[in-house]
Amino acid sequence: MTRPEGECVFCRIAQGELGSDRVMEDDEVVAFRDLNPQAPTHVLVIPKRHIASLDVADEGDSDLLGRLLLAAKRVAAQEGLSDSGYRVVVNHGADGGQTVYHLHVHVLGGRGLTWPPG
Ligand code: 5GP
Ligand code: ZN
Repeated sequence: MTRPEGECVFCRIAQGELGSDRVMEDDEVVAFRDLNPQAPTHVLVIPKRHIASLDVADEGDSDLLGRLLLAAKRVAAQEGLSDSGYRVVVNHGADGGQTVYHLHVHVLGGRGLTWPPG
């Protein structure tokens, strides 16, 4: 499940080796638009440091996990979604639908989202 960081597409995006449409960045996180958007706004917020999945995060990652959520909130505000609403999603593993094994938070909005998810 854990890939060498050199082969990780999101590590490469974080390091600027691969292009992306960045919307926000600070010293620990980067946010960029999803290549295959599922809503008018679909942004991914990732830690610059490689963590394969939420499932392998631990107590030592608490501060970073908090930063990811606060960054998601900032992105939503930047995208004008604070009043209309938005959804923040973390997928883990096969049943969760995770396809990229570098922890990422989806920020989705700009349309009414159905619940439960598929
Ligand atoms: P997951 O299914 O792992 O929760 O989400 C991975 C997301 O990453 C998908 O929504 C997919 O469209 C997006 N994605 C995969 N590769 C790239 C890429 O190279 N660039 C960008 N911007 N998004 C990507
Ligand atoms: Zn990575």
